[in-house]
Amino acid sequence: MTEEILQIDDLQLKFYTYEGVVEALDGVKINLKKGETLGIVGETGCGKSVTGLSVLSIVLPPGKIEGGQIIFNVKGRAINLLNLGDSVLRKIRGKYISMIFQDPRSALNPVYTAGDQIIEALLKHKIKELAEKAIEELDKEAKNKKANFLTRYCRNNLQKIVLNPKASSLKIVSKIPLLNRYKKLLYKQAKKEAIRMLRLMRIPDPERVVDMYPHELSGGMAQRVVIAMALACNPEVLIADEPTTNLDVTVQLQILNLIKELKQQFSSAIIYITHDMGVVAELCDRVAVMYAGNVVEIADTLEIFKNPLHPYTKGLLESIPRPGCQFKSIEGTVPSLIDPPKGCRFHNRCQYAMEICTRVKPKMIDVGKNHFIQCFLYQ
Ligand code: SF4
Repeated sequence: MTEEILQIDDLQLKFYTYEGVVEALDGVKINLKKGETLGIVGETGCGKSVTGLSVLSIVLPPGKIEGGQIIFNVKGRAINLLNLGDSVLRKIRGKYISMIFQDPRSALNPVYTAGDQIIEALLKHKIKELAEKAIEELDKEAKNKKANFLTRYCRNNLQKIVLNPKASSLKIVSKIPLLNRYKKLLYKQAKKEAIRMLRLMRIPDPERVVDMYPHELSGGMAQRVVIAMALACNPEVLIADEPTTNLDVTVQLQILNLIKELKQQFSSAIIYITHDMGVVAELCDRVAVMYAGNVVEIADTLEIFKNPLHPYTKGLLESIPRPGCQFKSIEGTVPSLIDPPKGCRFHNRCQYAMEICTRVKPKMIDVGKNHFIQCFLYQ
């Protein structure tokens, strides 16, 4: 649990809009440990989602990452994701780092079935494993009846995939309809795996749902399919960007319970982006609180709820509605990031603001108990 799988360091991101330059991320620093669930919380527009998008390098123009690094520790190597080209990133996305988006309807392609969208990810990233399973099945069949020429030909090509999926001889035959019959066997295995994933997502009758189109699915079912797609290749890191926001309350609870169960089954580390502190309390091991493009506090979940230190975190927790209690909202509004306040970006809403807060940006400091905070009150 202690080894870090992802380190986001001093991440700077700007949006070049007609109104001006939006300084969306101003030196974000977050680390993610193997197998843990880290919650990123904060108000809308504080930079939670773009932090997730930056990890996968899918920030669209006019957004631009201007500085910092995102180190991904995989297979004993430390790779800066921001230095990679698009072809390498495409191999990492889906296989090593996956994302569940807010709106399942826009995450699914309306012209492909639910199954085909999971199968696509499997054929791209798990082709060797699929070929091995197809060979196993052919060998079992061969025990019962004698293998004909076509079976032997398909087995031979599947063996080539196991040894080297990029073999040049395969590239040629894969394009010729009569010679690429082995692909049908791969597809059959991928479909079986897609059905298994849908069953894991607690989808009733997965054999039927696998052939359904997104418009035939309810919101909850569509989100389960998106989660199945994200987990199909058992990624090292899963980024869930408010996956329950657009769902009914009862479905939200089902999806949260599902993610909790899957957390035990899959060993993926999770970054869970949300504005809901209740979800954080339920799901996360640690929490990073973001405000106006900065991480202002990071601590273990229990520590954040028992001992919040940053004035913004305190305000965030006090603003949670509780039955019978009067909740307080944080005074003022989030500043424009086109011309953000100098110094601490929270100073115009902070009741403890000092003169230095208006001039100098506080550094993130360690206050013990795995608790880090960016505020002059503790420096
Ligand atoms: Fe308030 Fe200053 Fe701390 Fe910012 S640094 S939260 S303005 S006390």
